[in-house]
Amino acid sequence: MAEIYRPTKAEVDLDAIARNLRMIRRSAGDPMVIAVVKANGYGHGAAEVAQKTLENGAEMLAVATPDEALHLRSAGIDADILVMGASPVSFIPAAQKNGIILTAYSIEWIQQAAAVSGEFRVHLKVDTGMGRIGIQPAEAEEALALLQRTPFRLEGIFTHFATADTADSPLFREQVAKFKEVLKKTGDGLMVHASNSAAALLHPEVSFDAVRAGIAMYGINPSGYVESELGSPLQPALTLSTEVIHVKKLPAGSPVSYGATYRTEQDEWIGTLPIGYADGLLRALQGQDVLVRGERVPIVGRICMDQCMVRLPREIKPGTPAVLLGMQGDERIRAEEWAERLGTIPYEIPCMLTARIPRFIR
Ligand SMILES: *Cc1c(COP(=O)(O)O)cnc(C)c1O
Repeated sequence: MAEIYRPTKAEVDLDAIARNLRMIRRSAGDPMVIAVVKANGYGHGAAEVAQKTLENGAEMLAVATPDEALHLRSAGIDADILVMGASPVSFIPAAQKNGIILTAYSIEWIQQAAAVSGEFRVHLKVDTGMGRIGIQPAEAEEALALLQRTPFRLEGIFTHFATADTADSPLFREQVAKFKEVLKKTGDGLMVHASNSAAALLHPEVSFDAVRAGIAMYGINPSGYVESELGSPLQPALTLSTEVIHVKKLPAGSPVSYGATYRTEQDEWIGTLPIGYADGLLRALQGQDVLVRGERVPIVGRICMDQCMVRLPREIKPGTPAVLLGMQGDERIRAEEWAERLGTIPYEIPCMLTARIPRFIR
């Protein structure tokens, strides 16, 4: 990597990902694991995470888009890769050339794809209640009949749960029942998979042949409910840190940052961090704690594009490390905490860290 002159960085602990992967597999009752590395491995580095999970027993990789699959191939990864999203038919030649598995997600797509010459690999997606992509259960026989013929090599069948991360969901049970009905119509030998992280952790009874593990592999809980059921066995893999680059004492009543929304209440030590909303530290995170010398210190005043300010309990030296996500001393700030403050789900947190933040993945 080119020289980096700003101390702001994301470090990814691949061993934590390997441990989480083993934990998920155990919880799920020892099925195959499809490591989901879409969206640059949820911001953790797709190729590096893919390599690590394959070395630690993952049987297959899954991504959302054709381009993500090609990226893994160009990084030298030769494992099976499933594109779970909709690939245009125009991608099929590249999929054939690169041995990429596509998702057959509608009768129309299957009919169009049938015109391609030469074989290619597919998994059939069944929409049992997510309402996103996939054939309807009533279309299963037609789809399966079409997929028996060339150019298709049907290798798997899957569905996706909408409510696996909530307590006692009737929809979850309904989806399982519908999927099992469809499975009665398929022959043997297909790789059957349904579970995301939440289902893998909470519902080993529906692990089938394989589970598709994403968020939990990165050490982040799919939901508060999953966390309340599980405790905290997952180990966050990403640490976001920087240094306090400027420290000053301001007298009581001094404004801090755009709009002067914060004024010091007394003489206060204010530190400046070289990270802002252009890095993914959204303005709505004003008030969020950061760790400095193992203590929680709040972001005060508006977060700027490239910088933000924190209120320090005492004078510190410029260059003192600051952790925004991760551990310092005995304190930890998790993606779940940011998500709570932002009124969103933890999934969004690693995904919103922008490309300006260099990743150190090891
Ligand atoms: C993203 C995704 C997953 C992984 O979900 P997690 O909740 O992150 O484990 C699995 N299956 C499909 C179809 C997905 O889109």
